[in-house]
Amino acid sequence: MYAKIIIDITHEKLDRTFEYEVPKDMEDGLAIGSSVLVPFGNQDRLRQGFVVGFAKECSFDPEKIKAIHSKAPKSVSIEENLVSLAAWMKEHYGGTMIQALKTVWPVKKEERPKEKRMIHRTVSVEEGRKWLSFFQRKNQKARARLLEVLLKSEDVDYGWITRKLGVTAQVVRALEEKKILTVERETVFRNPVRASGAGRARITYTEEQQEAIRIFQEDYERARFDTYLLYGVTGSGKTEVYMEMIRTVVSVGRQAIVLIPEIALTYQTVMRFVQVFGNRVSIMNSRLSAGERYDQMMRARSGEIDVMIGPRSALFTPFEHLGLIVMDEEHEATYKSEQVPRYHARETAIERARIEGASVVLGSATPSLEAFAGCKKGTYRLLRLTKRAKEQQMAQVSVVDMRDELKNGNRSIISDALRGKIYDRLEKKEQIMLFLNRRGFAGFLSCRSCGYVVKCPHCDVSLSWHKGGRMVCHYCGYEEKVISVCPSCGSPHIGAFKAGTQQVEELIKKEFPQAGVLRMDLDTTREKESYEKILSAFADQEADILVGTQMIVKGHDFPNVTLVGVLAADLSLYMSDFRAAERTFALLCQAAGRAGRGSVPGEAVIQSYHPEHYSIQTAARQDYEAFFEQEMKFRSLMGYPPSAHLMAILMISEDEALLEKGAYYLKIFAKAVGSDPKLELIGPASPAVAKIRDLYRKALYLKHEDYQVLIAVKNKIEQYIEINEGFSRIRIQFDFDPVQA
Ligand code: ADP
Ligand code: ZN
Ligand code: ZN
Repeated sequence: MYAKIIIDITHEKLDRTFEYEVPKDMEDGLAIGSSVLVPFGNQDRLRQGFVVGFAKECSFDPEKIKAIHSKAPKSVSIEENLVSLAAWMKEHYGGTMIQALKTVWPVKKEERPKEKRMIHRTVSVEEGRKWLSFFQRKNQKARARLLEVLLKSEDVDYGWITRKLGVTAQVVRALEEKKILTVERETVFRNPVRASGAGRARITYTEEQQEAIRIFQEDYERARFDTYLLYGVTGSGKTEVYMEMIRTVVSVGRQAIVLIPEIALTYQTVMRFVQVFGNRVSIMNSRLSAGERYDQMMRARSGEIDVMIGPRSALFTPFEHLGLIVMDEEHEATYKSEQVPRYHARETAIERARIEGASVVLGSATPSLEAFAGCKKGTYRLLRLTKRAKEQQMAQVSVVDMRDELKNGNRSIISDALRGKIYDRLEKKEQIMLFLNRRGFAGFLSCRSCGYVVKCPHCDVSLSWHKGGRMVCHYCGYEEKVISVCPSCGSPHIGAFKAGTQQVEELIKKEFPQAGVLRMDLDTTREKESYEKILSAFADQEADILVGTQMIVKGHDFPNVTLVGVLAADLSLYMSDFRAAERTFALLCQAAGRAGRGSVPGEAVIQSYHPEHYSIQTAARQDYEAFFEQEMKFRSLMGYPPSAHLMAILMISEDEALLEKGAYYLKIFAKAVGSDPKLELIGPASPAVAKIRDLYRKALYLKHEDYQVLIAVKNKIEQYIEINEGFSRIRIQFDFDPVQA
């Protein structure tokens, strides 16, 4: 028998399978996904590889074919279904097979299991008593103490009992030699969820919740595994619906994965699941240690848990009978990976579910255009929750035209209307959230005389001005001192104009000295758990106002917040990508959704320099469908996803001239192979960030309605650059339907 093996070397030229003979004694132990050591290259160095297929015959001279050396020690095999998923990801998103395998391979290597030592009594109680009086006679107090405990319970924890009784290892050994006890090592899985499944009262579902659950259950009973979009306003009870759906799946012996954006993976979220599913819930996230992560995979594989909660990568949890993948906040940009293969968790979840025979539930208050368009086309089933579960009203939203403020002589970042409302809430002892989608003290530094902007010499992005006189690059961390004279024209009128969260915080403290203010942005949440500390301080009403970036608008429940101010609604509109309006709409809706989740109705104020823009207008009315119609017109006019597909070819090199030449040839080649007249080619252009860590970047964009056409072009380009030496110093990456975070 022969095995097809992918070697663990990331190199385009080695991106194919190699054939090896399977030694007779390994035939039984080997499966697709097994990790093995094989001799490779001139010197037959042992390399790790993965089995991706088997064959009775080999395509080369059987005399010359080498044999697999052994199974790889300390490495973890990959589930066969996940190997299939990896192959799909490679085809759909580009990159090599080994890169795809490593993406679905959740742990790098076997981790040392955590061990617990147990002391086990091996003699009968009667015989133990004889020994006890023997030790007492000989005045061997420690031995007697230990034996007394063992006579009460047959098994005790070694570490715990020796510490408690002050008994040394020698004493234990002495009793072991007399065959009174044995010491046994038990491996235990690390468990990152420290909680008890306290259980909770069952709730009565609203009619809309019941209907969504009924449709899902009816399909599930008929083994009709589908993709659903649960579209429901914030607070409409989507999480409760997910949990009931998971209950359905678990009751027939299957498991569920719950994807949530990493930032939303809070203690409260996990506890809601623990209350329902007890200790059969686990989590995955980047804060877990390698050992903890490894153990969660093993627990999933061995059937010890039913529900795995985690960000994007939890999608690859090796459950044996996966029945459901829930993807909460499916519109979030973090579901797109920025590493090769640049997969989107939504499509990849749907493919995994297809392979496993499972269902997918996407959930959002502001669905991605992809998901809602999918419902309109009939590929996904729409489940709707239109009302809040606890009969709260949606927030009242008003839009303030900041251009008028300027005309009226108000140069502050806070409009008169918002200021008045803040005073009002402070008086009523209600809480306020102020949202700004920027960070840093005061944005970028520019010259009022000539327009010069201070940029990072390595990354070609503007440096941010931080308090303390530093200017910092957000990509590479480069720092320099704030300058007071323009290096381009010598003018002293150089300064920062755009406000950052720090500046807003200071302004608020000055204007409202009686208010307690908390700030949450990347700077204040760098430390472990600082994020949760700020949130719980605000939830405990230790402050009146929370100022922050995107982070504060995502899914937190603060019942006492009755006013939300969006200080600069337009900032995200100026970002140079086609999803800018969609992102702005979603942010504004989420911000508004933060107001009034308790008994008092809430209010949101959106400040804008473009109040007539449809994404601001529709967000103010919380009218998703109107936004969808408008935005789809723009997407189809321009041929942007989801009405067509967009493939970015990113080219990266340290040699700028070579890169330009390469981009030119690649464009000619792409034109030639994509002879389809409907294929549109754009670029080459410098992407938003043209240079990162001294590497130059260029991008070509291809548009076509049919994803398969783009895949075919991608495959041809991959072959072309493999044989063309000129591209050996240019890295090529593909990005399908890009998402800018
Ligand atoms: P979403 O996920 O859509 O934001 P949640 O599931 O978090 O909504 O529900 C919002 C709040 O309403 C939660 O506190 C939840 O426990 C509560 N809730 C949801 N459904 C019901 C219901 N049928 N009866 C009572 N409370 C509910
Ligand atoms: Zn200048
Ligand atoms: Zn930089």
